[in-house]
Amino acid sequence: MLTLYNTLTRSKEQFEPLNPPFAGMYVCGPTVYGHSHLGHGKSYVSLDVLVRYLRYLGYKVRYVQNITDVGHLTDDADAGEDKLQKQARLEKLEPMEIAEKYTASYFRDMDALNVLRPDISPRASGHIPEQIEMVRKLIEKGHAYEVNGDVYFDVSSFSDYGKLSGRKGNEALSGSRVDTARGKRDPRDFALWKSAGDDHILRWNSPWGWGYPGWHLECSAMAMRYLGETVDIHCGGIENSFPHHECEIAQSEAVTGKPFVRYWVHNNMVTVEGQKMGKSLGNFTLLRDLFANWHPMVVRLYILRSHYRSPLDFSKEGLAGARSGLERLVSFRNRLGTPEAGEPSEKVLELVKGTREAFENQLDDDLNTPGALAAVFDFVRSGNTILEGNPSDGDRRAMADLMDVLVTDVLGIVLESGGADNSAEALCAILGELRGYLRKNKLFAQADKMRDDLKKAGYSVQDLPGGVSRVVPDL
Ligand code: ZN
Repeated sequence: MLTLYNTLTRSKEQFEPLNPPFAGMYVCGPTVYGHSHLGHGKSYVSLDVLVRYLRYLGYKVRYVQNITDVGHLTDDADAGEDKLQKQARLEKLEPMEIAEKYTASYFRDMDALNVLRPDISPRASGHIPEQIEMVRKLIEKGHAYEVNGDVYFDVSSFSDYGKLSGRKGNEALSGSRVDTARGKRDPRDFALWKSAGDDHILRWNSPWGWGYPGWHLECSAMAMRYLGETVDIHCGGIENSFPHHECEIAQSEAVTGKPFVRYWVHNNMVTVEGQKMGKSLGNFTLLRDLFANWHPMVVRLYILRSHYRSPLDFSKEGLAGARSGLERLVSFRNRLGTPEAGEPSEKVLELVKGTREAFENQLDDDLNTPGALAAVFDFVRSGNTILEGNPSDGDRRAMADLMDVLVTDVLGIVLESGGADNSAEALCAILGELRGYLRKNKLFAQADKMRDDLKKAGYSVQDLPGGVSRVVPDL
């Protein structure tokens, strides 16, 4: 039985959807104003395995992931500029051109990582009537109030506020720059609707005048639109549990009077030397840059070698380890070939059954992908030994089928030889040898020119003791 760690109850719980075999899953999608970095890759690859595994278990999953193209401000405290409008100004484009450009970029990167497309990718800008309707109901029920064309959620009217994050009183203030000046009754109150003047390109007419919805509102409106008033699984980054998800719960449950989400699943972040990788910190590595040196399947395997709830500290060594792991998987799968179906031996049947059980046990345990991978690598080791004994077609077929289901279908790792392309590595080895030769023969000018040229091409030279040199790609 699948168990998931539910942030709401702070415990691992057995997964039971409201209406089996249907399972609704909502994932906070990207705000499309820049290219995706490895942090996005980790979130969406991990959650992709959740979708794939639910389907493997027989659930009929409807997977909804929004595209935020309006209402996400540069500051959590309901102030600042709209992120898309700001980027549009910088690139001298229309905000909707920015949205199209970076939505396309996002899906290009996710396709490369073999992340399944969501069943529905609703745009916030395409669901303004649903959001206005929610605000209207919240005012009617006494959970929201209007001040000069802005509408705020009245946090004091919802006693469960803070149940997800544990932040209830003053600790529920999202930042130090909280503006009470514009008429908020309580600094914890958050914007449902913001008024906007002519200078604001993305704005709509509403009962409270021209404006645009607050960022939290879109996820509630679109999740309920496509998945009903109670959603089985809602996922997102742990940094979004407050204020974003806390606000989603408040406004949704205040409207419906029903639990909004049964399982809150939060993934952890990518760190660089212990610090969060993020756009605002400027320490991010774009996926498109990473793919120049590392095959996307290497990146995917690298991500899955850490648990979704653990931070992943970014390192070249980790990527190199994933690459050799991928090579082992690809070469084993190639050795199996495409044999005819046949009766497998007792020994292989046992091995296949045992591996499948171990793999399922690991994923059942809160989606333990490192454990599931360990089960796969144990299988590859045993399988390679069996291949030494020249097994029957039936044996090879059974092992190939298992690889295709567990590794390709569930973990989403495509085992094509391209996935373990090591031509760049081979060239680096040759260049490293050449650099060592130049230095040993005191041809320093040539050795330095080579180092500088490689730098320009995105590679670094490391001179090790004993006259040995290595060439490694910069990240
Ligand atoms: Zn969201």
